[in-house]
Amino acid sequence: MEKIFDNTQIAFSLKSDTELERAYFLFRLIDNQPLVRIGTAVTNFAIKAHLPVEGLIRATVFDHFCGGVNEEDCLPVVDKMYTKGVSSVLDYSVEGKEEEAQFDAALEMTLKTILFAEERQAIPFAVFKPTGFGRFELYEKLGEGQTLNAQEQAEWERVVQRFETVCQSAHAKNVALLIDAEESWMQDAADDLITEMMRKYNKEKAIVYNTLQMYRHDRLDYLKKLHKLAQNEGFYIGMKVVRGAYMEKENNRAEEKGYSTPICASKAATDLNYDAAIRYMLDNIDKMAIFAGTHNEASSYKLIELMEERKIKRGDERIWFGQLYGMSDNISFNLAVNGYNVAKYLPFGPVRDVMPYLIRRAEENTSVAGQTSRELTLIKTERNRRKRK
Ligand SMILES: Cc1cc2nc3c(=O)[nH]c(=O)nc-3n(C[C@H](O)[C@H](O)[C@H](O)COP(=O)(O)OP(=O)(O)OC[C@H]3O[C@@H](n4cnc5c(N)ncnc54)[C@H](O)[C@@H]3O)c2cc1C
Repeated sequence: MEKIFDNTQIAFSLKSDTELERAYFLFRLIDNQPLVRIGTAVTNFAIKAHLPVEGLIRATVFDHFCGGVNEEDCLPVVDKMYTKGVSSVLDYSVEGKEEEAQFDAALEMTLKTILFAEERQAIPFAVFKPTGFGRFELYEKLGEGQTLNAQEQAEWERVVQRFETVCQSAHAKNVALLIDAEESWMQDAADDLITEMMRKYNKEKAIVYNTLQMYRHDRLDYLKKLHKLAQNEGFYIGMKVVRGAYMEKENNRAEEKGYSTPICASKAATDLNYDAAIRYMLDNIDKMAIFAGTHNEASSYKLIELMEERKIKRGDERIWFGQLYGMSDNISFNLAVNGYNVAKYLPFGPVRDVMPYLIRRAEENTSVAGQTSRELTLIKTERNRRKRK
Protein backbone atom coordinates (compact mmCIF):
# COMPACT_ATOMS: atom_id res chain seq x y z
CA MET A 1 0.00 0.00 0.00
CA GLU A 2 1.13 3.51 -0.75
CA LYS A 3 2.69 5.06 2.37
CA ILE A 4 0.57 8.18 2.48
CA PHE A 5 1.57 9.06 6.06
CA ASP A 6 5.19 9.75 5.05
CA ASN A 7 4.26 13.01 3.39
CA THR A 8 5.45 15.62 5.92
CA GLN A 9 4.78 18.51 3.55
CA ILE A 10 1.04 17.83 3.74
CA ALA A 11 1.30 16.95 7.43
CA PHE A 12 2.73 20.33 8.39
CA SER A 13 1.16 22.44 5.65
CA LEU A 14 -0.50 24.70 8.23
CA LYS A 15 2.73 25.32 10.14
CA SER A 16 4.90 28.33 9.26
CA ASP A 17 8.68 27.92 9.55
CA THR A 18 8.56 29.68 12.92
CA GLU A 19 5.82 27.39 14.19
CA LEU A 20 7.73 24.37 13.00
CA GLU A 21 10.84 25.60 14.84
CA ARG A 22 8.81 26.05 18.00
CA ALA A 23 7.46 22.51 17.71
CA TYR A 24 11.01 21.25 17.12
CA PHE A 25 12.23 23.01 20.26
CA LEU A 26 9.32 21.66 22.32
CA PHE A 27 9.66 18.05 21.22
CA ARG A 28 13.42 18.14 21.73
CA LEU A 29 12.76 19.16 25.31
CA ILE A 30 10.16 16.49 25.99
CA ASP A 31 12.20 13.83 24.21
CA ASN A 32 14.36 13.83 27.32
CA GLN A 33 12.90 11.55 29.99
CA PRO A 34 14.71 12.90 33.09
CA LEU A 35 13.90 16.44 32.00
CA VAL A 36 10.19 15.63 31.66
CA ARG A 37 10.21 14.02 35.09
CA ILE A 38 11.88 17.00 36.71
CA GLY A 39 9.82 19.45 34.66
CA THR A 40 6.59 17.74 35.75
CA ALA A 41 7.55 17.85 39.43
CA VAL A 42 8.65 21.50 39.28
CA THR A 43 5.53 22.53 37.36
CA ASN A 44 3.20 20.73 39.76
CA PHE A 45 4.93 22.39 42.67
CA ALA A 46 4.88 25.82 41.04
CA ILE A 47 1.16 25.56 40.28
CA LYS A 48 0.32 24.44 43.83
CA ALA A 49 2.44 27.25 45.25
CA HIS A 50 0.64 29.71 42.95
CA LEU A 51 3.87 30.76 41.29
CA PRO A 52 3.34 32.65 38.01
CA VAL A 53 4.27 29.82 35.63
CA GLU A 54 1.10 29.83 33.56
CA GLY A 55 2.59 32.16 30.95
CA LEU A 56 5.52 29.82 30.46
CA ILE A 57 3.27 26.77 30.18
CA ARG A 58 1.05 28.56 27.71
CA ALA A 59 3.93 29.57 25.49
CA THR A 60 5.29 26.04 25.36
CA VAL A 61 3.27 22.84 25.85
CA PHE A 62 -0.17 24.37 26.28
CA ASP A 63 -0.39 26.16 22.95
CA HIS A 64 0.98 23.17 21.13
CA PHE A 65 -1.50 20.66 22.56
CA CYS A 66 -4.56 22.83 23.34
CA GLY A 67 -6.93 25.07 21.46
CA GLY A 68 -7.18 27.65 24.25
CA VAL A 69 -8.54 28.29 27.71
CA ASN A 70 -12.15 28.33 26.58
CA GLU A 71 -14.26 27.05 23.71
CA GLU A 72 -14.30 30.37 21.84
CA ASP A 73 -10.49 30.40 21.72
CA CYS A 74 -10.60 27.15 19.78
CA LEU A 75 -12.64 28.41 16.85
CA PRO A 76 -9.78 29.94 14.80
CA VAL A 77 -7.90 26.64 15.15
CA VAL A 78 -11.02 24.70 14.15
CA ASP A 79 -11.47 26.86 11.05
CA LYS A 80 -7.82 26.67 10.09
CA MET A 81 -7.69 22.88 10.27
CA TYR A 82 -10.93 22.60 8.36
CA THR A 83 -9.40 24.43 5.38
CA LYS A 84 -7.41 21.19 4.98
CA GLY A 85 -10.43 18.97 5.57
CA VAL A 86 -9.50 18.07 9.15
CA SER A 87 -12.42 18.32 11.61
CA SER A 88 -12.27 19.02 15.37
CA VAL A 89 -13.75 17.60 18.54
CA LEU A 90 -13.81 20.23 21.28
CA ASP A 91 -12.61 18.49 24.41
CA TYR A 92 -13.13 20.20 27.77
CA SER A 93 -10.06 18.67 29.37
CA VAL A 94 -10.47 19.67 32.99
CA GLU A 95 -9.79 16.56 35.07
CA GLY A 96 -9.88 15.33 38.63
CA LYS A 97 -12.75 17.49 39.92
CA GLU A 98 -15.00 15.91 42.54
CA GLU A 99 -17.72 18.39 43.41
CA GLU A 100 -21.31 18.68 42.28
CA ALA A 101 -20.90 22.26 41.05
CA GLN A 102 -17.97 21.14 38.90
CA PHE A 103 -19.95 18.23 37.48
CA ASP A 104 -22.74 20.65 36.59
CA ALA A 105 -20.21 22.98 34.98
CA ALA A 106 -18.89 20.07 32.86
CA LEU A 107 -22.46 19.26 31.88
CA GLU A 108 -23.08 22.85 30.79
CA MET A 109 -19.84 22.88 28.82
CA THR A 110 -20.73 19.64 27.05
CA LEU A 111 -24.17 21.01 26.15
CA LYS A 112 -22.48 24.09 24.76
CA THR A 113 -20.13 22.02 22.60
CA ILE A 114 -23.14 20.08 21.28
CA LEU A 115 -24.57 23.42 20.16
CA PHE A 116 -21.25 24.37 18.57
CA ALA A 117 -21.23 21.06 16.73
CA GLU A 118 -24.81 21.54 15.56
CA GLU A 119 -23.85 24.87 14.02
CA ARG A 120 -20.55 23.89 12.43
CA GLN A 121 -19.67 21.26 9.89
CA ALA A 122 -16.08 21.43 11.08
CA ILE A 123 -17.13 19.97 14.46
CA PRO A 124 -18.77 16.58 13.85
CA PHE A 125 -18.73 15.24 17.44
CA ALA A 126 -19.06 16.35 21.03
CA VAL A 127 -17.24 14.50 23.81
CA PHE A 128 -17.13 14.07 27.59
CA LYS A 129 -15.56 11.90 30.28
CA PRO A 130 -17.76 9.89 32.68
CA THR A 131 -15.80 11.15 35.70
CA GLY A 132 -16.49 14.70 34.52
CA PHE A 133 -20.13 14.04 35.47
CA GLY A 134 -19.75 12.17 38.75
CA ARG A 135 -17.38 10.95 41.44
CA PHE A 136 -14.96 8.20 40.54
CA GLU A 137 -15.73 6.24 43.74
CA LEU A 138 -19.39 6.14 42.90
CA TYR A 139 -18.72 4.43 39.57
CA GLU A 140 -16.28 2.14 41.33
CA LYS A 141 -18.75 1.11 44.04
CA LEU A 142 -21.48 0.39 41.54
CA GLY A 143 -19.12 -1.53 39.31
CA GLU A 144 -18.15 -3.73 42.24
CA GLY A 145 -21.81 -4.44 42.95
CA GLN A 146 -21.79 -2.59 46.29
CA THR A 147 -25.04 -1.13 47.54
CA LEU A 148 -25.16 2.64 47.65
CA ASN A 149 -26.51 4.39 50.73
CA ALA A 150 -29.43 6.80 50.31
CA GLN A 151 -27.20 9.81 49.83
CA GLU A 152 -25.02 8.06 47.28
CA GLN A 153 -28.10 6.79 45.49
CA ALA A 154 -29.36 10.36 45.13
CA GLU A 155 -25.93 11.40 43.92
CA TRP A 156 -25.90 8.61 41.31
CA GLU A 157 -29.33 9.65 40.10
CA ARG A 158 -27.87 13.08 39.38
CA VAL A 159 -25.09 11.43 37.36
CA VAL A 160 -27.65 9.45 35.36
CA GLN A 161 -29.61 12.65 34.80
CA ARG A 162 -26.51 14.40 33.45
CA PHE A 163 -25.94 11.56 30.97
CA GLU A 164 -29.62 11.71 30.04
CA THR A 165 -29.49 15.46 29.45
CA VAL A 166 -26.47 15.40 27.12
CA CYS A 167 -27.55 12.31 25.20
CA GLN A 168 -31.03 13.69 24.72
CA SER A 169 -29.63 16.99 23.48
CA ALA A 170 -27.17 15.24 21.12
CA HIS A 171 -30.02 13.15 19.73
CA ALA A 172 -32.34 16.14 19.29
CA LYS A 173 -29.62 18.09 17.48
CA ASN A 174 -28.34 15.11 15.52
CA VAL A 175 -24.79 15.48 16.87
CA ALA A 176 -22.76 12.33 17.54
CA LEU A 177 -21.46 12.14 21.10
CA LEU A 178 -18.25 10.38 22.12
CA ILE A 179 -17.83 9.18 25.70
CA ASP A 180 -14.26 8.56 26.83
CA ALA A 181 -13.20 5.44 28.72
CA GLU A 182 -11.12 5.54 31.89
CA GLU A 183 -9.78 3.09 34.50
CA SER A 184 -11.24 -0.44 34.35
CA TRP A 185 -12.40 -0.36 37.96
CA MET A 186 -14.83 2.46 37.25
CA GLN A 187 -15.66 1.51 33.67
CA ASP A 188 -18.28 -1.21 34.28
CA ALA A 189 -20.77 1.24 35.75
CA ALA A 190 -20.08 3.72 32.94
CA ASP A 191 -20.52 0.98 30.34
CA ASP A 192 -23.91 -0.02 31.75
CA LEU A 193 -25.10 3.55 31.74
CA ILE A 194 -23.83 4.21 28.22
CA THR A 195 -25.48 1.02 26.94
CA GLU A 196 -28.72 2.33 28.41
CA MET A 197 -28.20 5.56 26.45
CA MET A 198 -27.47 3.67 23.22
CA ARG A 199 -30.62 1.64 23.73
CA LYS A 200 -32.58 4.85 23.97
CA TYR A 201 -30.88 7.21 21.52
CA ASN A 202 -29.29 4.94 18.89
CA LYS A 203 -32.52 3.60 17.41
CA GLU A 204 -32.07 5.22 13.99
CA LYS A 205 -28.26 5.47 13.90
CA ALA A 206 -25.25 5.78 16.21
CA ILE A 207 -25.51 9.02 18.18
CA VAL A 208 -23.99 7.81 21.45
CA TYR A 209 -20.49 6.28 21.21
CA ASN A 210 -18.81 4.38 24.04
CA THR A 211 -15.05 3.72 24.00
CA LEU A 212 -13.33 0.32 23.74
CA GLN A 213 -9.83 0.20 25.20
CA MET A 214 -8.24 -2.65 23.31
CA TYR A 215 -5.28 -2.99 25.70
CA ARG A 216 -7.89 -4.82 27.80
CA HIS A 217 -8.02 -8.46 26.75
CA ASP A 218 -11.74 -8.75 27.57
CA ARG A 219 -12.96 -6.03 25.21
CA LEU A 220 -13.53 -8.04 22.05
CA ASP A 221 -15.84 -10.38 23.97
CA TYR A 222 -17.52 -7.35 25.46
CA LEU A 223 -18.14 -5.95 21.98
CA LYS A 224 -19.55 -9.25 20.74
CA LYS A 225 -21.95 -9.49 23.69
CA LEU A 226 -23.05 -5.92 23.19
CA HIS A 227 -23.62 -6.69 19.52
CA LYS A 228 -25.95 -9.56 20.44
CA LEU A 229 -27.87 -7.31 22.77
CA ALA A 230 -28.09 -4.60 20.11
CA GLN A 231 -29.36 -7.12 17.56
CA ASN A 232 -32.01 -8.40 19.95
CA GLU A 233 -33.18 -4.98 20.97
CA GLY A 234 -32.66 -3.15 17.69
CA PHE A 235 -30.18 -0.39 18.42
CA TYR A 236 -26.99 0.80 16.71
CA ILE A 237 -23.55 0.62 18.32
CA GLY A 238 -21.21 3.60 18.20
CA MET A 239 -17.65 2.93 19.41
CA LYS A 240 -14.47 4.90 19.67
CA VAL A 241 -11.75 2.28 19.45
CA VAL A 242 -8.48 3.12 21.25
CA ARG A 243 -5.62 1.15 22.78
CA GLY A 244 -5.93 2.71 26.24
CA ALA A 245 -4.12 5.36 28.24
CA TYR A 246 -3.92 3.99 31.79
CA MET A 247 -1.72 0.93 31.39
CA GLU A 248 0.73 1.62 34.20
CA LYS A 249 -2.03 2.44 36.64
CA GLU A 250 -3.91 -0.74 35.65
CA ASN A 251 -0.87 -2.98 36.05
CA ASN A 252 0.18 -1.38 39.35
CA ARG A 253 -3.26 -1.72 40.90
CA ALA A 254 -3.61 -5.34 39.78
CA GLU A 255 -0.26 -6.15 41.32
CA GLU A 256 -0.98 -4.30 44.56
CA LYS A 257 -4.36 -5.95 45.01
CA GLY A 258 -3.25 -9.35 43.76
CA TYR A 259 -5.59 -9.90 40.81
CA SER A 260 -4.52 -10.66 37.26
CA THR A 261 -4.10 -7.58 35.13
CA PRO A 262 -6.85 -6.77 32.60
CA ILE A 263 -4.14 -5.60 30.17
CA CYS A 264 -2.97 -7.72 27.23
CA ALA A 265 0.26 -9.64 27.77
CA SER A 266 2.30 -7.57 25.31
CA LYS A 267 2.18 -4.60 22.98
CA ALA A 268 1.89 -7.02 20.06
CA ALA A 269 -1.15 -8.64 21.70
CA THR A 270 -2.77 -5.21 22.14
CA ASP A 271 -2.07 -4.41 18.48
CA LEU A 272 -3.74 -7.64 17.33
CA ASN A 273 -6.66 -7.05 19.64
CA TYR A 274 -7.08 -3.50 18.31
CA ASP A 275 -7.17 -4.60 14.70
CA ALA A 276 -9.53 -7.47 15.55
CA ALA A 277 -12.06 -5.03 17.03
CA ILE A 278 -11.87 -2.82 13.97
CA ARG A 279 -12.33 -5.83 11.70
CA TYR A 280 -15.31 -7.07 13.72
CA MET A 281 -16.97 -3.67 13.55
CA LEU A 282 -16.38 -3.32 9.82
CA ASP A 283 -17.88 -6.77 9.29
CA ASN A 284 -21.01 -5.50 11.02
CA ILE A 285 -20.90 -1.92 9.81
CA ASP A 286 -24.57 -1.93 8.82
CA LYS A 287 -25.36 -1.61 12.54
CA MET A 288 -22.20 0.05 13.84
CA ALA A 289 -20.13 3.22 13.61
CA ILE A 290 -16.41 3.51 14.32
CA PHE A 291 -14.20 6.33 15.58
CA ALA A 292 -10.66 4.92 15.36
CA GLY A 293 -8.75 7.00 17.94
CA THR A 294 -5.15 6.11 17.25
CA HIS A 295 -1.72 7.45 16.38
CA ASN A 296 -0.61 4.04 15.20
CA GLU A 297 0.20 4.13 11.48
CA ALA A 298 -0.11 0.38 10.97
CA SER A 299 -3.60 0.33 12.48
CA SER A 300 -4.62 3.30 10.37
CA TYR A 301 -3.31 1.64 7.18
CA LYS A 302 -5.08 -1.54 8.23
CA LEU A 303 -8.39 0.28 8.52
CA ILE A 304 -7.88 1.81 5.07
CA GLU A 305 -7.12 -1.62 3.65
CA LEU A 306 -10.14 -3.24 5.30
CA MET A 307 -12.39 -0.46 3.99
CA GLU A 308 -11.03 -1.00 0.49
CA GLU A 309 -11.55 -4.76 0.71
CA ARG A 310 -15.15 -4.21 1.71
CA LYS A 311 -15.67 -1.48 -0.88
CA ILE A 312 -16.68 1.04 1.76
CA LYS A 313 -16.26 4.53 0.38
CA ARG A 314 -13.64 6.79 1.97
CA GLY A 315 -16.00 9.45 3.27
CA ASP A 316 -18.56 6.99 4.69
CA GLU A 317 -20.14 8.76 7.64
CA ARG A 318 -19.92 5.65 9.85
CA ILE A 319 -16.13 5.60 9.82
CA TRP A 320 -13.91 8.29 11.36
CA PHE A 321 -10.23 8.41 12.15
CA GLY A 322 -9.16 10.49 15.17
CA GLN A 323 -5.92 11.91 16.55
CA LEU A 324 -5.06 14.40 19.26
CA TYR A 325 -4.29 18.02 18.43
CA GLY A 326 -0.53 18.59 18.36
CA MET A 327 0.26 14.99 17.48
CA SER A 328 0.38 12.77 14.40
CA ASP A 329 -0.50 15.47 11.90
CA ASN A 330 1.10 13.21 9.31
CA ILE A 331 -1.79 10.79 9.81
CA SER A 332 -4.59 13.36 10.13
CA PHE A 333 -3.72 15.69 7.26
CA ASN A 334 -2.78 12.93 4.84
CA LEU A 335 -6.01 11.05 5.59
CA ALA A 336 -8.02 14.21 4.98
CA VAL A 337 -6.33 15.02 1.68
CA ASN A 338 -7.13 11.49 0.56
CA GLY A 339 -10.82 11.86 1.32
CA TYR A 340 -11.16 10.04 4.68
CA ASN A 341 -13.15 11.41 7.61
CA VAL A 342 -10.75 12.63 10.26
CA ALA A 343 -11.17 14.67 13.42
CA LYS A 344 -8.68 15.89 15.99
CA TYR A 345 -9.47 16.13 19.70
CA LEU A 346 -8.90 19.78 20.52
CA PRO A 347 -8.52 20.15 24.29
CA PHE A 348 -9.32 23.37 26.09
CA GLY A 349 -9.65 24.62 29.65
CA PRO A 350 -7.83 26.78 32.22
CA VAL A 351 -4.07 26.12 32.10
CA ARG A 352 -3.77 24.67 35.59
CA ASP A 353 -6.76 22.37 35.11
CA VAL A 354 -5.49 20.77 31.92
CA MET A 355 -2.08 19.99 33.47
CA PRO A 356 -2.83 16.26 33.98
CA TYR A 357 -3.67 16.05 30.26
CA LEU A 358 -0.50 17.93 29.27
CA ILE A 359 1.68 15.77 31.50
CA ARG A 360 0.30 12.62 29.83
CA ARG A 361 1.16 14.08 26.43
CA ALA A 362 4.69 15.05 27.51
CA GLU A 363 5.28 11.59 28.97
CA GLU A 364 4.10 9.73 25.90
CA ASN A 365 6.39 11.81 23.70
CA THR A 366 9.61 11.09 25.56
CA SER A 367 12.00 8.82 23.76
CA VAL A 368 11.53 5.13 24.38
CA ALA A 369 14.55 2.81 24.54
CA GLY A 370 16.86 5.40 23.04
CA GLN A 371 14.66 5.95 19.99
CA THR A 372 13.78 9.52 19.16
CA SER A 373 10.07 10.07 19.66
CA ARG A 374 7.91 9.72 16.58
CA GLU A 375 6.81 13.37 16.58
CA LEU A 376 10.35 14.65 16.77
CA THR A 377 11.39 12.43 13.87
CA LEU A 378 8.55 13.79 11.74
CA ILE A 379 9.36 17.40 12.59
CA LYS A 380 13.03 16.82 11.77
CA THR A 381 12.11 15.32 8.41
CA GLU A 382 9.99 18.33 7.53
CA ARG A 383 12.69 20.80 8.69
CA ASN A 384 15.20 19.08 6.45
CA ARG A 385 12.80 19.03 3.54
CA ARG A 386 12.22 22.79 3.85
CA LYS A 387 15.96 23.48 4.16
CA ARG A 388 16.65 21.55 0.98
CA LYS A 389 14.13 23.62 -0.98
C1 LIG B 1 -8.74 10.68 19.43
C2 LIG B 1 -8.27 9.88 20.61
C3 LIG B 1 -9.13 9.61 21.67
C4 LIG B 1 -8.69 8.87 22.79
N1 LIG B 1 -9.56 8.56 23.79
C5 LIG B 1 -9.17 7.75 24.80
C6 LIG B 1 -10.07 7.30 25.79
O1 LIG B 1 -11.25 7.64 25.82
N2 LIG B 1 -9.60 6.49 26.78
C7 LIG B 1 -8.29 6.06 26.82
O2 LIG B 1 -7.92 5.29 27.71
N3 LIG B 1 -7.42 6.49 25.89
C8 LIG B 1 -7.82 7.30 24.89
N4 LIG B 1 -6.91 7.69 23.92
C9 LIG B 1 -5.47 7.36 24.09
C10 LIG B 1 -5.17 5.99 23.54
O3 LIG B 1 -5.79 5.03 24.35
C11 LIG B 1 -3.66 5.67 23.52
O4 LIG B 1 -3.11 5.83 24.79
C12 LIG B 1 -2.85 6.48 22.57
O5 LIG B 1 -3.56 6.83 21.44
C13 LIG B 1 -1.63 5.68 22.15
O6 LIG B 1 -1.98 4.50 21.45
P1 LIG B 1 -1.97 4.41 19.84
O7 LIG B 1 -3.03 3.51 19.36
O8 LIG B 1 -2.03 5.78 19.34
O9 LIG B 1 -0.61 3.78 19.39
P2 LIG B 1 0.65 3.06 19.90
O10 LIG B 1 1.66 4.11 20.21
O11 LIG B 1 0.98 2.05 18.89
O12 LIG B 1 0.28 2.28 21.20
C14 LIG B 1 0.62 2.63 22.49
C15 LIG B 1 -0.39 1.94 23.37
O13 LIG B 1 -0.24 0.52 23.30
C16 LIG B 1 -0.54 -0.07 24.54
N5 LIG B 1 0.66 -0.74 25.04
C17 LIG B 1 1.93 -0.24 25.11
N6 LIG B 1 2.78 -1.13 25.67
C18 LIG B 1 2.06 -2.23 25.95
C19 LIG B 1 2.37 -3.47 26.57
N7 LIG B 1 3.61 -3.77 26.98
N8 LIG B 1 1.37 -4.37 26.73
C20 LIG B 1 0.11 -4.12 26.33
N9 LIG B 1 -0.24 -2.95 25.74
C21 LIG B 1 0.70 -2.00 25.56
C22 LIG B 1 -0.97 1.07 25.46
O14 LIG B 1 -2.35 1.20 25.36
C23 LIG B 1 -0.27 2.28 24.84
O15 LIG B 1 -0.93 3.49 25.15
C24 LIG B 1 -7.35 8.41 22.82
C25 LIG B 1 -6.49 8.67 21.75
C26 LIG B 1 -6.93 9.38 20.65
C27 LIG B 1 -5.97 9.62 19.53
